[in-house]
Amino acid sequence: MGVQIRRSGMYVMGLIISANLVGCSTEQIHTEQAKQVPKQLSGETASIDSSGSQTPTSKEEVVDDLDKAIVETRHFYTGPPHSPPPVADKIAYLTFDDGPSASTRKILHILKTFGARATFFVIGTETSEGKSLYREIAADGHALGNHTYSHDYNRIYKSPEAFMKDVRKLDRLLEETVGYRPDILRFPGGSNNHLSRKAGGRDVMSKVTAEVRDEGYQYFDWNVSSTDAAAPVQERDMIIDSVLSASRGKKRIIVLMHDNTYKTTTVEALPIVIRKLQAAGFHFDTLNRSSFTFQFLTP
Ligand SMILES: [Zn+2]
Repeated sequence: MGVQIRRSGMYVMGLIISANLVGCSTEQIHTEQAKQVPKQLSGETASIDSSGSQTPTSKEEVVDDLDKAIVETRHFYTGPPHSPPPVADKIAYLTFDDGPSASTRKILHILKTFGARATFFVIGTETSEGKSLYREIAADGHALGNHTYSHDYNRIYKSPEAFMKDVRKLDRLLEETVGYRPDILRFPGGSNNHLSRKAGGRDVMSKVTAEVRDEGYQYFDWNVSSTDAAAPVQERDMIIDSVLSASRGKKRIIVLMHDNTYKTTTVEALPIVIRKLQAAGFHFDTLNRSSFTFQFLTP
């Protein structure tokens, strides 16, 4: 019965927000989403049509095409300068996946209130509200990271090429919107997710992680989960307790949370999480390609 309720809840969410999927750390949720988000809706969020499939006829054209391909695949970071390495003893990197959403401004407000900076691993949205939110995240001094445009496992994990195509689509959108392409990335489901195997085979994640590195990105999993993806709406106190208990004994923590319209308890937990982490001696910082990382799978 519980499962039935959740499934129908997820279906409604899928209809409303299409690509703004809920968790990225819980395979079960994504499995259900993958089944339930109607194809035509998820298709709207990413049109990965193969272009450039014409066969070049001369040597010159071949070289020309190769040049274009090289320019297209090389990644340059042109964003704001990264802050110097933190000197604090204990650093917390709060991360919010899957936004922007109707929760984004609430999260930004809380972060501002506490003077805490964080990292938002965003997905693609073409709405003017979504674009405003990308800008507000950047304007508040938080880091933007690429979480793929479509967040659609079946699409992105078909091959390293399919993955990069989706990543670049979001890169272009962010560049148009906030003026730069991020060089940090989080894989939907994390670098060790098994759902990718259905789309791209057993070793697709080792290929994709290597490709992402070659393309100039640094990727980040997490060493502290808020568990807010373990249920459609996790209990607030469970989120707080999970973060605190997993943070104990660590000096660098990357905390997984979600920026999602329906994850109201993440927003409710956030001020308490920040206060308690501060009380435990943590300072907050944004992720950048040279900061501490935690990776489940290294290429
Ligand atoms: Zn996600």
